Amino acid sequence: MPSARNHSSERAGFAGLGVADALVATVTALGYEEPTPVQRETIPVMLSGRDLLAQAATGTGKTAAFALPLIQRLVGEPKGKHRTRGLVLVPTRELAMQVAESVHKYARGTALSVIPVYGGASMLQQTRALERGADIVVATPGRALDHLRRNTLKLDALAVLVLDEADEMLDMGFAEDIDTILKSTPTTRQTTLFSATLPSRILSIAQKHLKDPQRISVAREKTAAGKLPRVRQVAYLVHRSQKPDVLGRVLDVESPTSAIVFCRTRLDVDTLVERLNAHGYRAEALHGGMQQRQRDQVMSRFRSEKADLLVATDVAARGLDIKHLSHVVNYDLPASADDYVHRIGRTGRAGREGTAITLADPREQRLLRSIEQVTKQKIEIAAVPTLSDLRARRLETTRAALREKLIAGDLDDVRGVVESLAVEFPVNDIAAAAVKLAHAAVVGEREEKELPAAPAAPPARTSGPARFSGGKRTVRPEHGRIRAPREHAARENVVRLFVGAGRQAGIRPGDLVGAITGETGMSSKDLGAIEITDRFSLVDVPDAMADQIIDALKKTTLRGQKVAVRRSRESSEM
Ligand code: AMP
Repeated sequence: MPSARNHSSERAGFAGLGVADALVATVTALGYEEPTPVQRETIPVMLSGRDLLAQAATGTGKTAAFALPLIQRLVGEPKGKHRTRGLVLVPTRELAMQVAESVHKYARGTALSVIPVYGGASMLQQTRALERGADIVVATPGRALDHLRRNTLKLDALAVLVLDEADEMLDMGFAEDIDTILKSTPTTRQTTLFSATLPSRILSIAQKHLKDPQRISVAREKTAAGKLPRVRQVAYLVHRSQKPDVLGRVLDVESPTSAIVFCRTRLDVDTLVERLNAHGYRAEALHGGMQQRQRDQVMSRFRSEKADLLVATDVAARGLDIKHLSHVVNYDLPASADDYVHRIGRTGRAGREGTAITLADPREQRLLRSIEQVTKQKIEIAAVPTLSDLRARRLETTRAALREKLIAGDLDDVRGVVESLAVEFPVNDIAAAAVKLAHAAVVGEREEKELPAAPAAPPARTSGPARFSGGKRTVRPEHGRIRAPREHAARENVVRLFVGAGRQAGIRPGDLVGAITGETGMSSKDLGAIEITDRFSLVDVPDAMADQIIDALKKTTLRGQKVAVRRSRESSEM
């Protein structure tokens, strides 16, 4: 049996926990930079072969915490023919699929097979899969028992058993099934139990089935509540697939002046940056896979406001000297309350207003609640802003800009226009038309879609799959500092470029921004107003860059087509 190596200080990260090099390579390729707290505590214990009783919720990284040692142990042991050596019991079908997929992901590069087994699916198909041989089975208790009774699942060679989300399994009435399953396994097995809560029923199961288990709990951090700045904390419950759209919506509504978006992995950072930039945001990646020089460059672009958003992993953001951020966004919930506190401590500094926004999976509500307990601060669960919230917010931006203009005065040069139109139209209508034009200039022509109905806040204790209800609450964020999208564009020595494709060709501002910044390497901050008409588009660019941009755009395609680009002949095109 492999034993846990000492936590040698030279071997940091997963390797320092005793994880074998091949598995370290796997998690590194997945973009994990450091083990999460539950992984730090669980992995050495499991590798030592000892039983384990762990208190940890979904979202803390617990799947890898048990899967990595499980895989490592099975790889190192002789393979029994057609015998299952690892069994993970989970409460629901969704979880069985999800956990099996994760275990499979971590076992990539080994010859181990992982099979999910759950109710509501074809017995025959599962039986065939089991007959082909399953080193690791991830099962719901009911269906596991069915297979045991039919002898299609054999557990006589079982080396490691994991009870995942044990409190949920008991709540769902699986206690007896679990007992029966355990009786079909060798007493020499290693047993680990993971549960978000440890009520007495769990402790008695542990007493019955675990041998002198090591107890660990990741919810026991003692973060001083006083260390936390007062920031508005909002969470949206969204499934992973919806996160990019929801993030875009939230950013549009909040209009952060400077923000960090935290992701868990390098891969997420890179994917998100690409996506944000394609949609016209100015985002920069920061993660541990980058060289110091690259990081310095990113930071200097961020500090000089050439980028609005930093998308970073916790590791990369550690020790960054950033004066103030209007927003901290948790694209993923951090794996621990401590990380949450570190992250959001970057906003609301020096008595300024700050907002922390979290996109949490509906399954991660437990973790949200435990973060609230540790920080002793409330995280409001809000409904994703709707399209009409966004529109209202944008109108408010325009109103504020107009108000500023009215207070500043200096309107004499355009009064003549109002007066001449007043001969024909009521002044109120003229004002309304002017507001409309101003509004279009401020918000651009981005077409927005209604996002799928967001799940409303489910009850505090959820089990199994997320429960949705159609209820909608609208959140109107308190005052945030708003910057009109192109307010910061260069205004001097600007020329207008004519691009021979417009709305009819499907062109959106983001396409132009993406193509220009992508082809020339210039920052979107240096671009001015963009106007898109049915047949063509006009883009304001610095005169000095115009020729380079024209050349670059001529060489590329927009929405798949070559387009004509030249300096605009203002009068005929406006
Ligand atoms: P879990 O609690 O197992 O459901 O994991 C939650 C999420 O965290 C999953 O998306 C994992 O891919 C991710 N994750 C697990 N461990 C790490 C890690 N060490 N670093 C970054 N992300 C991780």
